[in-house]
Amino acid sequence: MATTSFSKKNLGLETIDPGVKPTPLTGESTFLKKPRLTSAKSKKREIPEGLWTKCPKCATMIYDKELDENLKVCQHCGHHFPIGARERIHSLVETCSFEEMDADMLSVDVLEFNAVTSYIAKLEAYRKSTGAKDAVITGIGRVGPHRVGLGVMDFTFLGGSMGSVVGEKVARMVEAATDKGLPVVMVSTSGGARMYEGMFSLMQMAKTSGALAYHARNKLPYISVLTHPTTAGVMASYASLGDLILAEPGAMIGFAGPRVIKDTTQTELPPGFQTAEFLLEHGLIDAIVPRKEMKERLCRFLDYLTVGQRQLAALG
Ligand SMILES: [Zn+2]
Repeated sequence: MATTSFSKKNLGLETIDPGVKPTPLTGESTFLKKPRLTSAKSKKREIPEGLWTKCPKCATMIYDKELDENLKVCQHCGHHFPIGARERIHSLVETCSFEEMDADMLSVDVLEFNAVTSYIAKLEAYRKSTGAKDAVITGIGRVGPHRVGLGVMDFTFLGGSMGSVVGEKVARMVEAATDKGLPVVMVSTSGGARMYEGMFSLMQMAKTSGALAYHARNKLPYISVLTHPTTAGVMASYASLGDLILAEPGAMIGFAGPRVIKDTTQTELPPGFQTAEFLLEHGLIDAIVPRKEMKERLCRFLDYLTVGQRQLAALG
């Protein structure tokens, strides 16, 4: 863990080593000198683990509280750290407007998959470590004045893999939005289909795509937001079907991994391959939107995409 390698320098504490610091110039300093130094020393050594995070891009040590307040974006270089599904929902919808759907839906072990550990044991471990039931949270919420069907994936639950529950929850949310005449916003992050569910996970690609096709047939907009990383089966289904496709800066987006592509095609991959910036340049992505601007930009895109609906409503 990064916290074990803290040096004084990283923590910015190199100038306040109490062992070598001159006596402070206060009246009480003479007889209080010893206890004061002892307490300062122990404070410095007892920095709790997990209070600071090192930015992998600019190597700055960031105070976790600051990182949380900044929606898990490094304030020094703009690096986007992963963010949990609930935190992201909180950052996108109006307070208390989100009604979660299918919150208790649980995966079952259809194939009785058993490798190093069983699928059931894996699910239980992830439920315990993340506090989530599966890799996506879906529901209806309000972004600015717009009610939308919203789905947010969480990479920390089994790599955001798409099993039957993820597919079913996404499909049901899209169908509910279609019924209610609402736009859909889907925030994806995924390593792909869930291997523990074999073919059943692959079938989710067709199911979710089908639900989105009906949604589109009803002339309702769908905005797909790609976050780091969005790959494989999810990218090959609902994540790439948006009327608008947005991405967070620096997100890795693709189908197969770069090494597999390089080995298969036997060609050198261009620099920046499979990054949001590369895909924006090549037309797959419509805009790269920093996390802090996401809500406002979504709101503006939704204004634009629902203008026809509002005009029709005004005509009665
Ligand atoms: Zn940084």
